[in-house]
Amino acid sequence: MDYQLILNEIKEEVSLLENEGLVANYIPELTNVDPGKLGMHLHSVDNKGYSFGDAEEKFSIQSISKVFSLILAYKVLDKDIWKRVDVEPSGDPFNSLTLLEYENGIPRNPFINSGAIVVADILMSHYQNPKEALLNFVRKISGNPSIDYNEKVALSEKSHGYRNAALANLMKSFGNIQNEVNDILDFYFYQCSLEMSCKDLSKAFLIFANKGRLVETEEVFIESRQAKRVNAIMQTCGFYDESGEFAFRVGLPGKSGVGGGIVAVHPGQYSVAVWSPRLNEKGNSYMGMEVLERLTTKTGYSIF
Ligand code: GLU
Repeated sequence: MDYQLILNEIKEEVSLLENEGLVANYIPELTNVDPGKLGMHLHSVDNKGYSFGDAEEKFSIQSISKVFSLILAYKVLDKDIWKRVDVEPSGDPFNSLTLLEYENGIPRNPFINSGAIVVADILMSHYQNPKEALLNFVRKISGNPSIDYNEKVALSEKSHGYRNAALANLMKSFGNIQNEVNDILDFYFYQCSLEMSCKDLSKAFLIFANKGRLVETEEVFIESRQAKRVNAIMQTCGFYDESGEFAFRVGLPGKSGVGGGIVAVHPGQYSVAVWSPRLNEKGNSYMGMEVLERLTTKTGYSIF
């Protein structure tokens, strides 16, 4: 498959489209981004990379970080993690409080905010320095030691994170949060502020295309059975209340973030990341969805 040719065609086609949607503004610091940015990087399991546009520019990965924290917590608790967080799509917005009230403080899945806050709580209970543990892990699987948190973004979200505080407090009232709410939120906001490029992200997500192993060294990061399950959760829950639409249009497991990034995985083949900051009304990158839909149409392969 000539991936570079396909990427070039996609770049050409989407340059003719009107870029719709709005940059996320509920975290003030996220508005300081050029809405016209567009980058894509695909990395295949034979360790070759293909790019176009702003593929090497770092951006705020936001909810994409929920996949990294989930893997770490899954390694810590293995299947006991599912006693604290479920694996069902929510069909509700990512910051919704309603289902928690009816489901005894057990979040629907680890990729909505409530689920990721429980995962952050698990990591806080296990690691002396969870920020450092997460950062080291992400640097290792992406092969880029320069990846870091953006403190400005973390503090910007902290000073406006009223809904996340409400989620954490509600879960604490049900006994599903063990640490201090403020400490967990601080860790969660830092996690979301991680900055990575499309190239970093697609290299990091290659473990999901390669049964949990790094492609360079075959070092095992998570068990193959765990990689399979995380892929399943990405497929069913990775795109807020638009996960069905993403499966329908693209047909790959993946995860989006309000910074405009989307990562998707074709198990056994490649992982791919796209960044374009304008979001549709469900909070997913408008152009990111267009680009990835074209990728699986042009290659003729999705997981379906
Ligand atoms: N830090 C963001 C929040 O908690 C992440 C949202 C997202 O990317 O979905 O609201």
